[in-house]
Amino acid sequence: MADKNTKRGSLIVISGFSGVGKGTVVKRLVSDFGYNLSVSATTRSPREGEVDGREYYFMDRKDFENLIDYGGFIEWTQYVENYYGTPKKYVEEKLADGKDVILEIEVMGALNVKKQFPDALLIFISAPSISELKSRLAGRGTESEETIIKRLRKATEEAEDMDKYDYIIVNDDLDECIHTVDSVIRSYGCRRDNQ
Ligand code: 5GP
Repeated sequence: MADKNTKRGSLIVISGFSGVGKGTVVKRLVSDFGYNLSVSATTRSPREGEVDGREYYFMDRKDFENLIDYGGFIEWTQYVENYYGTPKKYVEEKLADGKDVILEIEVMGALNVKKQFPDALLIFISAPSISELKSRLAGRGTESEETIIKRLRKATEEAEDMDKYDYIIVNDDLDECIHTVDSVIRSYGCRRDNQ
């Protein structure tokens, strides 16, 4: 329980091109380093192996829209025909308790969060090249050809906003990328705590 002297936590926003491996990076930050991760809500169907409440809260459009009307999201967006949103309750509770929280969200959501939380740290995970991204997306085998094309088009759009992020980290070697992200977050935490 937070007392009134507890310093609020910060938001760490991680974005990146679809298929770049940011989901794996974030999972490892949670499992290896103990970070708190906000679980988003979405109207997209679960992929094989995804569990409701772990990867996402899977919802139908009606329930999602009701939650928007109720003010239940910090931010939400439509991404390749589905809704995605960050539920407010978990994030607010952790921040009030002085804990930092990771959000793994796309660019529009990230910029929206930065407006509401100016001290949020924005990290963009990039790919070594577009062709590498394409083969990672196709290799994942979870999306149709049509969805892959839409996601690559989205990646081109997102690339235009990459310079609004505090750090851009290339995921070439997974372990190296995870350790770099962790170091960046730690050094940001140190700077913030020393202010
Ligand atoms: P995917 O369908 O591949 O899991 O996610 C598609 C995109 O939606 C990814 O770029 C992911 O970061 C983003 N995303 C996931 N959850 C949220 C959210 O709560 N808000 C926003 N704005 N984007 C999200």
